[in-house]
Amino acid sequence: MLKIEHLGIAVKELEQSIPLFEQLLNTPCYKTEKVDTEGVNTAFFRTGDSKIELLEATNGDSPIQKFIDKKGEGIHHIAFEVENIEAEMKRLSALGFELLNASPKNGADNKLVCFLHPKTTNGVLIELCQEKR
Ligand code: ZN
Repeated sequence: MLKIEHLGIAVKELEQSIPLFEQLLNTPCYKTEKVDTEGVNTAFFRTGDSKIELLEATNGDSPIQKFIDKKGEGIHHIAFEVENIEAEMKRLSALGFELLNASPKNGADNKLVCFLHPKTTNGVLIELCQEKR
């Protein structure tokens, strides 16, 4: 894994959280993007070499809504940048980590992504991401 690419934070309303994180990080939100397949609106901030991704549910069935109902707002996942997502998925799957998608899927911010089930990662939802090229 190359680095922590971003931390994903589940929020109830981007409208309130974007200005809050702009103040907190002292940097403007550089992108918002809706990911229909995941039922989320996202907002991104740069913090040095890494990013913060805010996630807001777009409907009641969204995984983000379920997360907030269960745990409230807060850190939702850690995303690691990888060089070759398919090779990394193969490597981790062979070691017994449970992948939530069998092939890489399109994520926000021009990335191919795959999530690992938290039950095999000490309760932390892990995202692998690779820049699309
Ligand atoms: Zn993410």
